[in-house]
Amino acid sequence: MGEIKDFIKYKRRPVGYRAVEERIHDFKELDLPLTPDEITQQARRCMDCGIPFCHGAGCPLGNLIPDFNELVFKGHWEQASRLLHATNNFPEITGRLCPAPCETACTLGISDEPVLIKHIEYQIAERGFEQGWITPERPSEKTGKRVAVIGSGPAGLAAAQQLVRAGHDVVVFEKHERAGGLLRYGVPDFKLGKDILDRRLWQLEDEGVQFQMGVNVGEDISSRYLHKMFDCICLTMGAGQPRDLNIPGRGYENVLFAMDYLTAQNKLNASEPVDEREIVTAEDKIVVVIGGGDTGSDCVGTARRQNAKEIYQFEILPKPPDSRPVDTPWPMWPRVMRTSSSHEEGCERRWSVSTKEFLGGAGITAERLHGCEVEWIKKNDNWKIKEIAGTDFFLGVDLVILATGFAHVVHEGLIKDTALKLDPQGNIMVNNYQTSDPQIFAAGDTINGPSLVVQAIDSGRQAAAAIDHWLQKNGG
Ligand SMILES: Cc1cc2nc3c(=O)[nH]c(=O)nc-3n(C[C@H](O)[C@H](O)[C@H](O)COP(=O)(O)OP(=O)(O)OC[C@H]3O[C@@H](n4cnc5c(N)ncnc54)[C@H](O)[C@@H]3O)c2cc1C
Ligand code: SF4
Repeated sequence: MGEIKDFIKYKRRPVGYRAVEERIHDFKELDLPLTPDEITQQARRCMDCGIPFCHGAGCPLGNLIPDFNELVFKGHWEQASRLLHATNNFPEITGRLCPAPCETACTLGISDEPVLIKHIEYQIAERGFEQGWITPERPSEKTGKRVAVIGSGPAGLAAAQQLVRAGHDVVVFEKHERAGGLLRYGVPDFKLGKDILDRRLWQLEDEGVQFQMGVNVGEDISSRYLHKMFDCICLTMGAGQPRDLNIPGRGYENVLFAMDYLTAQNKLNASEPVDEREIVTAEDKIVVVIGGGDTGSDCVGTARRQNAKEIYQFEILPKPPDSRPVDTPWPMWPRVMRTSSSHEEGCERRWSVSTKEFLGGAGITAERLHGCEVEWIKKNDNWKIKEIAGTDFFLGVDLVILATGFAHVVHEGLIKDTALKLDPQGNIMVNNYQTSDPQIFAAGDTINGPSLVVQAIDSGRQAAAAIDHWLQKNGG
């Protein structure tokens, strides 16, 4: 650690963004990384607190945070990169996208502002790439065992990388034409440039991971084929079943799911072919995003860059408090008011709003939204929603985007064919990442429901360890 009182001497210096007027005209990443001197000062703020909750209770990957902070402070960047990669396959991605539960668990955060952990992680990973320290790690021996990974999101990629490094032959099957899952087609480029993803995919390919793109498993190839051709299968298909809003007028063609909207824009940015009918622009339109979460915020940022006339974001839950509420004390993840870079770019956010119907004329597009305000009432430990009389309102709309979340993995196709056991939420049920079919393992949003990149990476790593163990014992 630095001097014992460095956390008093140096204040937290948050990561900046490019100016709003500049960034809303492009889809490029918006972070402005700190300088080397600034980052060293931020690392010095880590105060050697004794029990690092950031690493134990905060980071799902168990990143060794105080240790890499010390290495950064002392200028041992290569060692820091090695240490970080020991627990995290893709720190350049979590360094950009993670909501950083480590920071809300930082001991310094009890009385001051927490250490800037996420951005230190970003800087270590970026320096690792710049300096050529991140190279393919090929196994010294091959096991002769074959593993099929279904889905190329962060869970599938982490599992594939761990398995190939353990000496297994790994084939990743992906229904899209390019790998990355939601990192490629959901997360907008202004949060994660796709060159960052491609840079990591080259490493996986160099290590021996094979990618079979444009293959929808369950449709183009059967689970029977996979069982015959592979010793083990790992399902990392995400939680792609969107939650719908089944209200009158849902069928209008200008009411669409967030993923359809975001995917089309990400493909356009990458000059990937997009069907004319899939392209939806918010240009000069009044846009309502329904859903106050991160996906909704990504839609707001995308609509802003498409030159929307007005943007609203509706959330059915009440507005969160500005500071940590008593029901989520330190080091827990608190539900507090958060303002994303997209919100800063301009949109009207409303909370405790329920949308009742979409109204249109004789045509096929919704012209008005009918909503009302609601209150949440607790009865016998259950929350109930109640409309507030006299609050009904109508709003003219040109485009409505449903960012109402995801339910679970898509059941149609592979999951139904394999008849795997599901949990009550509709996720694939696992015991130490093994499904009800002993040859099939699963990880990521497929077993957790919609979650976070950091959880997906952790889950992919854990599933790979379980598969490796199982193959050694049972692989024939
Ligand atoms: C718009 C949006 C923004 C987000 N932003 C953030 C963020 O900023 N930070 C964060 O931590 N999390 C974020 N998330 C959540 C995060 O992206 C997910 O939790 C994470 O990607 C889950 O990883 P996964 O590997 O389990 O699944 P996914 O990333 O969903 O990948 C699953 C892959 O499986 C493929 N697949 C599915 N079925 C088949 C099949 N039958 N055959 C072949 N391939 C198949 C899919 O095409 C997909 O590529 C965001 C989510 C969305 C939707
Ligand atoms: S992965 Fe997320 S939780 Fe873990 S150290 Fe990085 S920012 Fe923190």
